[in-house]
Amino acid sequence: MNILVVNAGSSSLKYQLINIETEKVIAKGLCERVGTADSFLKHTTDTDELSIKTPLPDHEAAIDLVLKSLVEGSHAAIDSIDQIDAVGHRIVQGGMYFDKSVLIDDDVKAKILELAELAPLHNRAALQGIEACQAAIPNRMQIAVFDTSFFSTLPRKAYMYAIPYELYEKYGIRKYGAHGTSHRYIAQRAAKLVGEPLSELKMITCHLGNGCSVTAIDHGMAVDTSMGLTPLDGVMMGTRCGSIDPAVVTFVMEHEHMTASEVNDLLNKKSGLLGVSGVSNDMRTVVEALTEGNDRALLAYSMFANSVKKYIGQYMALMAGVDVVVLTGGIGENSPDIRRAIFAGMQPMGIVVDNMKNHQRGFERIISHEKSKVRICVVPTNEELMIARDTYEIVHERSQIVPYSEKE
Ligand code: ADP
Repeated sequence: MNILVVNAGSSSLKYQLINIETEKVIAKGLCERVGTADSFLKHTTDTDELSIKTPLPDHEAAIDLVLKSLVEGSHAAIDSIDQIDAVGHRIVQGGMYFDKSVLIDDDVKAKILELAELAPLHNRAALQGIEACQAAIPNRMQIAVFDTSFFSTLPRKAYMYAIPYELYEKYGIRKYGAHGTSHRYIAQRAAKLVGEPLSELKMITCHLGNGCSVTAIDHGMAVDTSMGLTPLDGVMMGTRCGSIDPAVVTFVMEHEHMTASEVNDLLNKKSGLLGVSGVSNDMRTVVEALTEGNDRALLAYSMFANSVKKYIGQYMALMAGVDVVVLTGGIGENSPDIRRAIFAGMQPMGIVVDNMKNHQRGFERIISHEKSKVRICVVPTNEELMIARDTYEIVHERSQIVPYSEKE
């Protein structure tokens, strides 16, 4: 069975065609700058790579080009669209409606649209992607996999904010979290890696990429996570500030004469590593600058490691300990120095990194010292595979149900 996984971002569209029996990626690619005149598609198969520069006015046009690239020309991965058996869509915001992945129908689409208020760019783009796939492959099931559903197990005391309760009732203002599919995937892989069931482990998962989030998973259930109503909260990130005193917002608005939307832009796009270092939002560039003696780059780097360390400490307190800490994302997977900085000085809490294992690269592994009470794992994330697995499960389950008309 071939499953097309579609991940529509605000101005991009990533996709993978996955054979679910072998879990092999048959083709994958990315449309960038969707909605502009200089959009382009990069499409890769085992044997070929294709790049097309063409205006893609919206996500519908992007889906049309993706489907065409999958079946036409020397870079074709399949003979016809009929060889796509189902489509799995990544949806950023599932709000309070979705605690698991679901088959998409009109009601699901209406709810995704309703939730666009909480993730305006992402949910609308995803909806366009869904409708374009429904139009192009009308006889195939479309499944929605939500970034937020992994956090539906958060207790009330974790997801509520200490603001007037009426705001929660009126607007649904609460913590929803993000990166849920990634946290779910790396937690499952790490449990396999340490050879113990997830349901018997206290785990802290850290997704450290451009966006960063940390999640506490107690015996398989997410009990807290660092991102909030939006992906701005929590750990310091590439361009996002993470958690700060909320009074900073009104102070900056008053003193810099900024509107709500300008300050939103400042905290989302001009803060984090970029804002503090003044050099870059990219951790590699920040590290280069600090090795050349740039003091603000050093400050940004230390603040980043400190911010992750503090979340690990919080969640250890919350769960009364931790058995496994898992790291993923561009920074979590590739930077031994950041990993060392995050865990530095945590020996009294039973956390010791093995220096040699920390410097190995590129595969799932345990990097803690054999004397470390807490195991530390590095697991490359694979959200697309998780979406494909969810899609397969729902499609498989549904196809076991004999339609009523056939029962007669
Ligand atoms: P996204 O969240 O967009 O998927 P990634 O998971 O690819 O992003 O993470 C991007 C981040 O990972 C960037 O800050 C990049 O500098 C960082 N990164 C990648 N490789 C390294 C490395 N070897 N050392 C330090 N940081 C790295």
